[in-house]
Amino acid sequence: MDPIAAKPWRLAEVAYGYVKEHPYELAVLPLGATEPHNLHLPYGTDTFEAEHLSDEACRAAWERGARVVLLPAIPYGTETNQMAFPLAMNLNPSTLHLVIRDLVDSFQEHVSDFDLPVSLGASVRSVRVEGEGFTIYTDEGKNFRGHSVIIATGKRHRPLGVPGEKEFAGKGVAYCATCDAPFFAGKKVVVAGGGNSAFTTALELLKAGASVTMVNFTPGWQADGVLQQKAGQFKKLKRLDRRQVLELTGKQRLEKVRVKNLVDGKTSAIAADGIFIEVGLISNSDLVKDLVQLNQQGEVVVDCACRTSREGVFAAGDVTTVPYKQIVVSAGEGAKAALSAHAYLFERNLV
Ligand SMILES: Cc1cc2nc3c(=O)[nH]c(=O)nc-3n(C[C@H](O)[C@H](O)[C@H](O)COP(=O)(O)OP(=O)(O)OC[C@H]3O[C@@H](n4cnc5c(N)ncnc54)[C@H](O)[C@@H]3O)c2cc1C
Repeated sequence: MDPIAAKPWRLAEVAYGYVKEHPYELAVLPLGATEPHNLHLPYGTDTFEAEHLSDEACRAAWERGARVVLLPAIPYGTETNQMAFPLAMNLNPSTLHLVIRDLVDSFQEHVSDFDLPVSLGASVRSVRVEGEGFTIYTDEGKNFRGHSVIIATGKRHRPLGVPGEKEFAGKGVAYCATCDAPFFAGKKVVVAGGGNSAFTTALELLKAGASVTMVNFTPGWQADGVLQQKAGQFKKLKRLDRRQVLELTGKQRLEKVRVKNLVDGKTSAIAADGIFIEVGLISNSDLVKDLVQLNQQGEVVVDCACRTSREGVFAAGDVTTVPYKQIVVSAGEGAKAALSAHAYLFERNLV
């Protein structure tokens, strides 16, 4: 008999569907530097994080009653790159499911058909105009030259930076309503933030059947009137402005959000099954801030052909001004940027 199958746990190179159908078995799933909630596990799934895949880690998790072990094995990705997960991720919450690992693998396989140098793991520090083209400087000291450059460095969520945020990531702490709102049907949820993203998140949660308390640091709310009006139609919405989130507490999962009233200085705890953090996104555009035009949010300004303000530099995906930060949008924009870069080189007899 397969020694793995003989054990009380089970090594599962599998996706959401497996965990859903076998909720009381232990699955071992790779996790990136990002949160377990990306894994689309059924609400309430207990997770256990292990550094390495080993019998000991599995046994320890099993004995602690965990149903899923998450490993930081992340072949492609980074903090923002949740495409590293070999797991089902919804592109359209109601219908379309795609194993993203397959998508990334097929891109990688396609690239390997060509004689292209690939450098994984190095971080780009800056991109400079030098001579007839551009030089890309990496933190490993390895530099690259090109006549054209495509920037596709993505975005990352701004964290609240309070105790408990990291600890309860995926155990109540979430950053993406499109992905996770359905898991909070009938639950009590706090939304931190007061802008358009916070209200859009609150609306998605309310529509999913959650009770929502919005907590905002500043006086009043910064979202468009129409969003505030729509959210205001739900009886299950409560708004608290001039409140600062101090701490997230709980045992296995998030249970309470401790807040400070900035008017009278008193602190209180809000019972919550989840908190969605919507206090902004940070574009990974620092490395090109002196090269191309950025908007006030730090996004690279592009036209409809992914051209930036600098000739020869193109940009695609979440790092750009293109709205709707979704995989399918970014993948399409990436294709457009590649075609534009090719046209740019072709017109100059460089290919
Ligand atoms: C928590 C979460 C859940 C999401 N869920 C969904 C979902 O269910 N469905 C959906 O469609 N979308 C979802 N999204 C959005 C989706 O992940 C993004 O829209 C998409 O990944 C953007 O692709 P991108 O290539 O522009 O950027 P990314 O996927 O962020 O990739 C950027 C890449 O650039 C690299 N990079 C950044 N800086 C540097 C540097 N200095 N040097 C070298 N490399 C660098 C990063 O390592 C990363 O690999 C989610 C996003 C988050 C954060």
